[in-house]
Amino acid sequence: MAKHDKVTRGQFRVHDDGVKECADCYKPPAVKMFVDDADRVRGITRTSFCADKPVGFSIGLMTYSSVRKQDVDVIRACSSHANYHVHHWHHLRVSETKVVEKYPLDSPDDVMRAYGSATANIYPRYEEWITEWSRKV
Ligand SMILES: [Zn+2]
Ligand SMILES: [Zn+2]
Repeated sequence: MAKHDKVTRGQFRVHDDGVKECADCYKPPAVKMFVDDADRVRGITRTSFCADKPVGFSIGLMTYSSVRKQDVDVIRACSSHANYHVHHWHHLRVSETKVVEKYPLDSPDDVMRAYGSATANIYPRYEEWITEWSRKV
């Protein structure tokens, strides 16, 4: 499981009354695609919406590990616990190596800003993340 215990929880709640899901909440299936020409790096985006606005997301990359013989996590930006943060993994370790906290999410605007930031930084920079994941130690 991901380490979320260290992140600072923001004030943002999808619904003010504490309801988990309302009639306008919508969680489409994860969107999966290869982000590289060699079809080695898989991008997976999960977004939850309420009234057509993104209220939660997880945007990550996976790739095949020849050591573990399966697709494994490389990096994932997520909005759990009302906090925008990024999980990082290394090819020799099963559990994540670090969680980089960006900022707590206090408002719908913060969520939009974080969503934009994750979109601009995870898939487009996949070469950087793969290099980090596969570096020698
Ligand atoms: Zn809702
Ligand atoms: Zn997370």
